[in-house]
Amino acid sequence: MNTNCIYRYVKMLKQLLKLIYVCIPLTVYSQTQIIKGKLIGIGDGDTFTLLSENKTHYKIRLNGIDCPEKGQDFGKKAKDFTYRFCAQQIVVAELLSKDKYGRNIANVTVNGISLNQALLAQGLAWHYTKYSQDQNLAKLEQEARSKSINIWSVNKPMPPWIYRKRGTLVPLNSLQSGQVYICASKGSKTYHKSMCSGLSKCAKGIKTIDIIEAIRINKKECGYCYTN
Ligand SMILES: [Zn+2]
Repeated sequence: MNTNCIYRYVKMLKQLLKLIYVCIPLTVYSQTQIIKGKLIGIGDGDTFTLLSENKTHYKIRLNGIDCPEKGQDFGKKAKDFTYRFCAQQIVVAELLSKDKYGRNIANVTVNGISLNQALLAQGLAWHYTKYSQDQNLAKLEQEARSKSINIWSVNKPMPPWIYRKRGTLVPLNSLQSGQVYICASKGSKTYHKSMCSGLSKCAKGIKTIDIIEAIRINKKECGYCYTN
């Protein structure tokens, strides 16, 4: 390599570095937006509305977690927790994307403390593994489980994403002995005695039917929940 060649090589490298420095911040900032606002409405623990400093409403859905629904155990407790965490405070939301309902998927902090993480640490939310692979969130859920607090204080709590898919909203404790769970999908061949993990992949909605009817339509007993 002669001097001229090295000079051209260094010049090219400098241009490349310049390009990288210019492009990286652009891609990051075009995906996330940080807003500050006040809590003005709340649906449940993970869904609420902020009024920003420039008087815009933002529907927020917390990123990476799923809180129990209104009708579920600890649904109200999770909602109350979020309310107390945010009320009368400056709420900072890092907006990551929008979901199919137009809500802003966000990481939320108050006084530098993460609400997403606090709900998990309190045993008031599940790590939403379908949408998040965050190991920190996974660890917080595990710690809450090991302490058996709130959601994890009851035997086999029903994840909210299963609860939302239930075809018939029958309270679990009002079930008659003859009722079993099935997935409404045609391909589904089994019936279950509880909200078993075998139903977690059911996309068509979960229904409760009488066990005699289940057998009549050729459904077989689920090997997992009937042996556990
Ligand atoms: Zn089962």
